[in-house]
Amino acid sequence: AAKREEAAEVLAQGEMTALARQHLVQPWPVAGEIGAEARGGIRSGEGIYVIDGEGRKLIDGPAGMWCVNAGHRRKELADVLYEQAMELSYNSPWYTMNEPSVTLSARLAGHAPGDLSHVFYTTGGSSAVETALRFMQFANNVRGRPEKKLIVSRQGGYHGSTYLSASLNGRPRDHDWMDSASDQVIKLTCPNPFRRPAGMDEAQFCDMLVEEFRDVIANRGAERIGAFIAEPVMASGGVIVPPYGYLSRMRALCSENDILFIADEVVTAFGRLGSVFASQEVFGIEPDMITFAKGVTSGYFPLGGVMISAQLLEDLRRSNHSEAMFAHGLTYSSHPIGCAVALKNLDILEGGLLAHARDVSDYFQSSLKRLEELPLVGEVRGLGLMACIECVADRVSNNPLTLDLEVGKRIDAHCQELGLLVRPLINMCVMSPPLTIERPQIDTMTDILHTSIRRTMDELVREGLW
Ligand code: PMP
Repeated sequence: AAKREEAAEVLAQGEMTALARQHLVQPWPVAGEIGAEARGGIRSGEGIYVIDGEGRKLIDGPAGMWCVNAGHRRKELADVLYEQAMELSYNSPWYTMNEPSVTLSARLAGHAPGDLSHVFYTTGGSSAVETALRFMQFANNVRGRPEKKLIVSRQGGYHGSTYLSASLNGRPRDHDWMDSASDQVIKLTCPNPFRRPAGMDEAQFCDMLVEEFRDVIANRGAERIGAFIAEPVMASGGVIVPPYGYLSRMRALCSENDILFIADEVVTAFGRLGSVFASQEVFGIEPDMITFAKGVTSGYFPLGGVMISAQLLEDLRRSNHSEAMFAHGLTYSSHPIGCAVALKNLDILEGGLLAHARDVSDYFQSSLKRLEELPLVGEVRGLGLMACIECVADRVSNNPLTLDLEVGKRIDAHCQELGLLVRPLINMCVMSPPLTIERPQIDTMTDILHTSIRRTMDELVREGLW
């Protein structure tokens, strides 16, 4: 601890800010600030908390970016990082292999639904999604149907920041100023029950969404559509839990039309919804591929991967093109340190953390639901240990607030003063704390949010904006 304090003194908050402005390009910057921006410094972490540059202790409401599932500063994870680095810090995944990646694959296969028995490891979520898509393209080339490559995604979805994965993203800001492979992607309506057309109940809304996919298949041709990709619960799009039956009906349409169903579980896996993978345990579906990242190492090491169906792999082995190479790999595929950390993280999950997450999730959801008594709050929704508070201009029509009000940012600022970090998303706040969170800490979180939203309402009224 003394060493850490010493290091902290070397770079005081002001110096850190100055250096960042001179040398750091932060992710998701706006042009007016690019390369000249400083953000709130975080010094250290401890359990569900992080300590900021001023030494304030904040509940890490979003668990970093939905990833610090086992909580901060866990010695057993840090020890594995060290021990694996001292044993074997790296090996080429091209001509060699390592034990942690093989063992981890077998453990993950044991948790995965259906025949998802194999894993291709990547460096994170974007590269996992990119891998799944390139695998689909490769498989269809090898199987003699090179025209079957269109990818169906949804408005509001988020799948990554590499070219093809980003092309699937369904929020306007992902495309306003960015190029994308839009000719390869078809986007369906966001399955957000809160924003369903007026006069429709949830079951009718679900019918509408499924019919839309059926129409797309009929119009574009099943022979041209290679994959459907979906987050079981849309995360960055505002924690959107689809209507009951939606995922299984979409899965059925994929099966009928030989379209690969890719479940993007980058957020929903590794305990966020109480199970290692949520597709089957929570939603009763068996995808053809599952992409994962984030919680697989609780953020202690960058790692992602794709679970792939044994049948798909066997089809390739039996094809007429045994010479065809899946020319896709990463220097850090099957990284021994990442896989060793993931194994220990899985021990933690299986050893009680999954059960704990399941145990506190109802309390978490019902506690946050209380915020709906505040007139600015249109809906609090979620599942497991992920939730979203969506603010509205008025509760009768649920009109969205003018986006430039950025209410989320205002709420976040008040929350930080009171000891909670939230993830502001325009007019929404997303919460996905470390799974180690306990009931009293959930109470504190809810109380802080309550006060902060009240303060935000007062502020908006004072400024004549609401
Ligand atoms: N898929 C989903 C569902 C995600 O939420 C994210 C990241 N937020 C990604 C993919 C991309 O992962 P990464 O940032 O690790 O590349």
